[in-house]
Amino acid sequence: MSLLMERKGVIAPPRLDGKEVLVGPNPDVAKVKGVMARLSPRTASYTKVPLASSWCEFESLVELDRATYGVLKAKYPNVLALIGAASAELGIGKVYKSLDNTELVKFLESQALFHSQYQKFGRVRFEKTPSGGRMICSDYPVYSPIYCGSAIGFYLESILRHGGNDPTVVETKCQTLGDPSCVFEMHWK
Ligand SMILES: [Zn+2]
Repeated sequence: MSLLMERKGVIAPPRLDGKEVLVGPNPDVAKVKGVMARLSPRTASYTKVPLASSWCEFESLVELDRATYGVLKAKYPNVLALIGAASAELGIGKVYKSLDNTELVKFLESQALFHSQYQKFGRVRFEKTPSGGRMICSDYPVYSPIYCGSAIGFYLESILRHGGNDPTVVETKCQTLGDPSCVFEMHWK
């Protein structure tokens, strides 16, 4: 589980009272299609095979994230950040107990440097700032607030996993608002 998901106060704990029925009298009708029903055939096909090493269209990624958001937003208002956090969780093995600023900065620099390994478009640059850092993403031929929303969670989780405290990530400029870049200002202690 991502550290962002674990953080108290960010997400309300689940309600555990009430009766649960998992299998009905007729198991054939106890089925849900859930999110798949709202996906195009191409996007739905991506959810059935491991995606880590294959490329999928940006459109499909956004479609999937938007559909997930639609289903879960009432329960997890920050579900997009959680999607991004889950991706950082997969990519960062070690979890640091206390802040390793050097490793964190190295990680964020490598995210910018090797961004073409996870995204075929755009330019990404990382700048160190006195209390954190700044990720600057430019020249995207495609963009979506859905994508930016999950990026915020990716950076938050990256900071938390490197032992950073009280992280904040704010997108101060965004290509979806007509700015030349998406700029993510990150602060941590
Ligand atoms: Zn943006």
